Amino acid sequence: MKIGCECGEIVGHVANASPKTVNRAKCYCRDCQAAAFLGDANKVLDEHGGTQVCQTIPALVSFEQGVEKLQCIRLSKNGLMRWRSSCCNTPIANTLRDQKFAFVGLIHTGITYPTMGEERDKLLGPCVFNVNTQTAINGPIKQVGVKRTIFKVLSGVVKAKLTGSYKQNPFFDSSTGDPIVEPRILSKEERAALYEQLDSI
Ligand SMILES: [Zn+2]
Ligand SMILES: [Zn+2]
Repeated sequence: MKIGCECGEIVGHVANASPKTVNRAKCYCRDCQAAAFLGDANKVLDEHGGTQVCQTIPALVSFEQGVEKLQCIRLSKNGLMRWRSSCCNTPIANTLRDQKFAFVGLIHTGITYPTMGEERDKLLGPCVFNVNTQTAINGPIKQVGVKRTIFKVLSGVVKAKLTGSYKQNPFFDSSTGDPIVEPRILSKEERAALYEQLDSI
């Protein structure tokens, strides 16, 4: 599976991508919706305000090129770390602040292969997980696959912790455990402006 930004400065890949290693999901939460307005929200959100992601283990993700173009934004002090390209503002991935929680959600806008649709379904299986559906737009959207996903994600996290493979994470410095760039935490005003845009659609 190939990842990268729209302009091609950032290029990376996910090793051994399969339905076993990648969990396809759609998040309808307000934070993901608001974060889409950091750039062109139309490219990120579907007609119900869902963001499609491929969840996997960070050790499988690596960048061949342009890692220095990654920037990290958090909507609030406790928010997810939202990784985007600084060159062309492409949403790439979400991670948690704690590197020990070996989890990454690769946002569909940053996945260059397989392309969305038939090709992706064939390689990674269909998207069978919908979460935070209570804030879907023009719903209702059914919440599905939550238990299965939690189990899959947590077993990956536990395994990475036991084997120490959580340290292989391209978004973090392996020796210090710090993110490779200092995350920028939005101000209250900046965050409010994003929500205002979201509420006006
Ligand atoms: Zn770019
Ligand atoms: Zn979300």
